[in-house]
Amino acid sequence: MERQSELTEKILKLKKQRNAVILAHNYELGETQDIADFVGDSLDLSQKAAKTDADVIVFCGVHFMAETASILSPQKTVLLPDEHAGCPMANMITAPQLREKKKEYPGATVVCYVNSSAAVKAESFICCTSANAVGVVESVDADEIIFVPDQYLGHYLSTKTSKKMILWPGFCPTHARIMPEYIIKLRQEYPEAKVVVHPECRPDVIALADQVLSTSGMIEFAQREDVKEVIVGTEMGLIYRLRKENPGKKFIPVSEQAICPNMKLITLEKVLWSLEEMKPVIKVPENIRLKAKAAVDRMLAVGRSA
Ligand code: SF4
Repeated sequence: MERQSELTEKILKLKKQRNAVILAHNYELGETQDIADFVGDSLDLSQKAAKTDADVIVFCGVHFMAETASILSPQKTVLLPDEHAGCPMANMITAPQLREKKKEYPGATVVCYVNSSAAVKAESFICCTSANAVGVVESVDADEIIFVPDQYLGHYLSTKTSKKMILWPGFCPTHARIMPEYIIKLRQEYPEAKVVVHPECRPDVIALADQVLSTSGMIEFAQREDVKEVIVGTEMGLIYRLRKENPGKKFIPVSEQAICPNMKLITLEKVLWSLEEMKPVIKVPENIRLKAKAAVDRMLAVGRSA
């Protein structure tokens, strides 16, 4: 505890000197969430940081998130406190692979989940988040959609739209560890609880949920007065925030295995070192940034939670 408060003090002092803003994704360690200026999902955080007059963004998250911050704030220095914090799902597709897929389906339009590299975004027509994906897909003026990289989110969308969805076989290993039997067992144990799951979960898990929600959707759902007990089907880090913001309510993780090791790479020590040394810097090259930003802007024009 002493270590933590000492580190926090040093970080806050340096943050001020560097004119930095600290962002933490909902899946980060609790101690990291506690020192952040903003906690949220990746796009929301990048948008908030862009609106600040900070010179430096410290992104406590994974690589594609820091890239998104760089896409929206090219004039700011973006730091990712551990350069090895990548997203295995985002890494399941590269820009050359997507170019090949586009050649295979020349009439299709590419929609990419925001959990993708800047290079993949640059090859896509429009981005989406898990909160606005249905609206984004519906907004596209094409009958055929190549959806990358998450096959499970893509499958969920295919149940909500009449468009032909061509799915890339990517997936989030953390959400894929959530099994239907965990939900069946917890429902017996907590018969009054509502079950919410993230659309990155497998279809047989989604089929068992009361609500399929993004992390921001889960946060809003938890605040509802009629909601007292929730079985939460997403990465464990969100439980910390849900409990902190809703004392007196019960949040039951679907599985203690649902931990993203990449998100947990960021520690207070690394945040401090990163601010001290002003590295590792994540900077998206301008030619890629402009194309990726066009895909993000098209999504924002449709609406964030369309
Ligand atoms: S939870 Fe899944 S999608 Fe999110 S960073 Fe980890 S591996 Fe990627």
